[in-house]
Amino acid sequence: MSTATATATATATATATATTTTPTTVTTPRTVERLVQGQATSDGAGVKLVRVLTQNLQRRLDPFLMLDAFGTDNPGDYIGGFPDHPHRGFETVSYMLDGRMRHRDSAGHEGLVGPGGVQWMTAGRGLVHSEMPEQQAGRMEGFQLWLNLPARDKMRQPAYRDIPAHEIPEASAPGVRVRVIAGQALGVAGAMQREVTEPVFLDLHLEPGADFELPLPAGHNAFVYVYRGALRIAGTPVPQQRMAILANAPQADGVALVADAAGARAILVAGQPLNEPIAQYGPFVMNTQQEIFQAVEDFQTGRLA
Ligand code: FE
Repeated sequence: MSTATATATATATATATATTTTPTTVTTPRTVERLVQGQATSDGAGVKLVRVLTQNLQRRLDPFLMLDAFGTDNPGDYIGGFPDHPHRGFETVSYMLDGRMRHRDSAGHEGLVGPGGVQWMTAGRGLVHSEMPEQQAGRMEGFQLWLNLPARDKMRQPAYRDIPAHEIPEASAPGVRVRVIAGQALGVAGAMQREVTEPVFLDLHLEPGADFELPLPAGHNAFVYVYRGALRIAGTPVPQQRMAILANAPQADGVALVADAAGARAILVAGQPLNEPIAQYGPFVMNTQQEIFQAVEDFQTGRLA
């Protein structure tokens, strides 16, 4: 048994009366279905980024719609930021590793996300927002993940939450530090919980050779993106800047990974698929084309601002 598992088991035993069916160890780990290399692109006002989860993977990785990774020391790659643009029908989760971005939206929310912090924005029925760098020099690095909303919630009121670095719970085991942004890990509840899609969003810091396990229902879609070093999942090497899509074999009961000799840092993302139709046009993600036409019309007539 790994040391990480030992900690998880101890924690789970202490709370056994509260948790009934969640397993605490992984006996049949998931395999890697495929490795994905992101596509270099630019968005906003010329911000260079790598689109890791692209539109053709939305069905496979339901409820996740997009993952962008960005990381640069060159202000020219990020200084244009993301000026005013609309969204409707889903949530954007921005996780900063380095750098500072200011968010403002038409629902009246404003916030500054800095290193280690998260901005969790629920677009719901729609808003117009901007995400602009609050620095002229230095490193900018992080991720933006798009999480779909169930059909019943797509037209809910917009919401916004800033989660500064010190408010993100951390779990640890020998050689392992886990920042628990959403869901839970090693018995520690994350900063955000969501019904229906039950998203897990972890930032894993692994020392050389350290291992980590996370029990996970077989039907939940899951992926790991390595942003430092390298690791192995069920024997498959996952190099830096690759996303491993994890298979959903019915007998698999979780994820198990081990860092290579140089250690690794990676994000692990998982969630319960919605299995609802996905209709996307740019920043609008709904269930039908008719709803997309309506979103475009509402934006053009100023009803999102
Ligand atoms: Fe945006």
